Amino acid sequence: MTELSYLPSMDAAYTRRFRARVVARPPGAVVLDRTFFYPAGGGQPSDLGTLLVPGAGTAIEVVDVVRQGSGVAHRIRGPASGLAALGVGTEVEGAIDWARRFRHMRLHTSQHYLSARIFERYGIRTRRASLRGIAANIDLERALPEGALNELREDADRMAREAREVRIREVPRAVWDQHPTARSALVPLAPDVDPVRLIEIDGVDLCPCGGTHVRSTAEVGAVELRPVGGRAAGSARVSYVLANGGASIRRE
Ligand SMILES: [Zn+2]
Repeated sequence: MTELSYLPSMDAAYTRRFRARVVARPPGAVVLDRTFFYPAGGGQPSDLGTLLVPGAGTAIEVVDVVRQGSGVAHRIRGPASGLAALGVGTEVEGAIDWARRFRHMRLHTSQHYLSARIFERYGIRTRRASLRGIAANIDLERALPEGALNELREDADRMAREAREVRIREVPRAVWDQHPTARSALVPLAPDVDPVRLIEIDGVDLCPCGGTHVRSTAEVGAVELRPVGGRAAGSARVSYVLANGGASIRRE
């Protein structure tokens, strides 16, 4: 069992270094009692980074992070001596590749507000979303009407300007099932999700999500929506990238 330490608060998602204990060593991987590394899921790629035994040895590379039952496996690569030092019971220091993670947080929050605006304006729900590098795709249940991209560009610019607060809320599953938000009803929640963790963008959106998000839409900065290649009619996919090659407006 691994505690997902990045989940409970907005601040937790900004943790870049942490201490934890090794609880299992499946082949090529380390399972910790708690982790701030995000395991791939929900369209958000896993974090990368390093694990280090404090005061000894070299940092071991974390090359992938995946859920394994109730645990989180950190797949590792490094010299044999370094790997051998990560025995069960050892305390390690984890360090997350922050530039990568922060891009994912910005992309994930922007995906939520764009999906919300697409539903609000056109009544079209999001089937799935995926993000990678500085780019994201939002796949919709049907094509956008003509001119939608320009309207969504204005929405995205406004979100960056208005600095809407992003919060986490938890509600009991039974309550959520009675009052789900219409835009999120297309994707069924797994039966064991209880309570439901909701990401709320002030005045804009409320959506179940286990991902990591920025505290304010201002931290996303500008995004560039792109027409999806070659299709003259409206596309059922929205693609965009973080502006300026993903450079952050915050000094990180
Ligand atoms: Zn999400």
